[in-house]
Amino acid sequence: MLSRHFDHWPKRVPRSLVVPETNPYHNLEVSAARYPNKAAVHYYGGEITYRRFLEEANALAGFLQRDLGVAAGDRVLLFMQNSPQFMIAFYAILRANAIVVPLNPMLLTRELAFFVADSEPKAAIVGQELYDRIAPLMEKTSLKHAVVAAYGDYADRGTDLSLPDSVAADRKEIDHPCVTLWDTALKLQRRPEPVRFSPDDIVVLPYTSGTTGQPKGCIHTARTVQANTVGAAVWGNVSAGNVPLSTLPFFHVTGMIHGMHVPIYAGGSVVLMTRWDRETAAKLIERHRCTHWTNISTMVVDFLSMPDVTKYDLSSLSYIGGGGAPLPEAVGEKLHELTGMRYVEGYGLTETIAQTHINPPDRPKLQCLGIPSFDVDARIIDLDTRKELGPGEKGEIVVRGPQVFKGYWRRPEETEKAFVTLDGKPFFRTGDIGYYDEEGYFFIIDRAKRMINVSGYKVWPTEVESILYKHPKVQTACVVGVPDPRRGESVKAFIIPREPYRGKVTEEEIIEWSRGQMAAYKCPRRVEFVDQLPMTASGKILWRALQEQEREKAKRE
Ligand code: AMP
Repeated sequence: MLSRHFDHWPKRVPRSLVVPETNPYHNLEVSAARYPNKAAVHYYGGEITYRRFLEEANALAGFLQRDLGVAAGDRVLLFMQNSPQFMIAFYAILRANAIVVPLNPMLLTRELAFFVADSEPKAAIVGQELYDRIAPLMEKTSLKHAVVAAYGDYADRGTDLSLPDSVAADRKEIDHPCVTLWDTALKLQRRPEPVRFSPDDIVVLPYTSGTTGQPKGCIHTARTVQANTVGAAVWGNVSAGNVPLSTLPFFHVTGMIHGMHVPIYAGGSVVLMTRWDRETAAKLIERHRCTHWTNISTMVVDFLSMPDVTKYDLSSLSYIGGGGAPLPEAVGEKLHELTGMRYVEGYGLTETIAQTHINPPDRPKLQCLGIPSFDVDARIIDLDTRKELGPGEKGEIVVRGPQVFKGYWRRPEETEKAFVTLDGKPFFRTGDIGYYDEEGYFFIIDRAKRMINVSGYKVWPTEVESILYKHPKVQTACVVGVPDPRRGESVKAFIIPREPYRGKVTEEEIIEWSRGQMAAYKCPRRVEFVDQLPMTASGKILWRALQEQEREKAKRE
């Protein structure tokens, strides 16, 4: 660790952590033994105690093992929105010593096909509203079984809170030999078989496109997950009194660690939302006296622009923070005015199972990634020479630490490219461009990788372009991120139409068509038709020039 990063280390926090060599499943066992009758989860008026949570996780683990033949190291898809079943299933898969493959519930069948082929799962646990998307892939692939869940089973339908459609929906009966309904699986009350746990077991395989645009599974072990779970708990002073408002999607690493693993580790009570909705969030904070709220900055922007935000009692909150995208400075100030709190920003990637940097809660800086967290060595290297740079000098952020992944699933070449050797040790290349100041706080200024950050959802332009090329009227497509006051960035496509269609294809037509081809957050929100695009001599489209042009345009508007 670099000594300068110690300067503003919070006083109550140790400088290095000894992380238990356990499986995250054991966190649930310990909390259930300590607090059996306490609510592990509050869900739209419903409550799940720690005892019930553990019993159901064990019953599902037994079902996966004994009835579906899931063995240690097998992959199981979790294709669900945030729900109690997502959480219970996650711990059940851990108990079976299998590997959780969490997938974005916005993915369409053709996108899912890639993840199924790549991870070769044996089973999937699926929200009933998403079942139709995964069904066409079953039997024809490695995927032979699905357990289908109705979220509403865990909610109180008589609640005064407004229920998202997927929670309010009645339970569907699905008659298919490969499908078991969630409660049928639990009712069998199977006892899980014993397994041999090791801290180096792979426990979760979250997908990212990394720096190159091709989705890749990030290998995370019990050790990497526990490092950030325990690390976040210690850093945030999280105890059994922790009542987080869980609004970030669990399939993504920030929600997974901060919204689920940290509170379960600490014995807290998760206040769970399936869909973001600011009025419900405010009511839940007031009703359950939420203490922590980890979010994506766009949620804070939306929350603070609620006309009657001051009518809610938010005084229980002791921590509001997040990462994934920067929080505009003016919004940080407004938040401070309303709650007296400073936004605690963090930084990390799927490859690092959430945070590598985090602001000291007692001395955060705005629009800043924070300082490297426990046992993280973070440096800046020159983009061309890969030599280490000093304070204030801009280059690529590289990190080494206990939460760094073990490589990309079945992609040794990509794994090798993702690391650089400094002082004889491997450092993960983040693809982000930034610098650190004299006090050791890190800042991000741009990205070396081609990625668009839409409200924290990452979009890879090459993927969107390859889909656009399938449109019969598209000759050439170039996709860039453009500044968006609500989403941070949004997707814009520059298109050269095929000759016969010039002047005869509309923006709406392309956007509408895109909706049927890819998850909604990836779809272009703007399309501009052009006669030519800036190119290198070798014919490569100069996407950066287009992106710069859009950024400049936004500054002038
Ligand atoms: P993901 O793998 O989806 O978690 O995306 C990781 C990327 O999100 C990073 O490489 C950054 O580009 C971006 N990111 C994460 N945290 C922040 C932050 N605090 N500010 C700006 N961008 C961030």
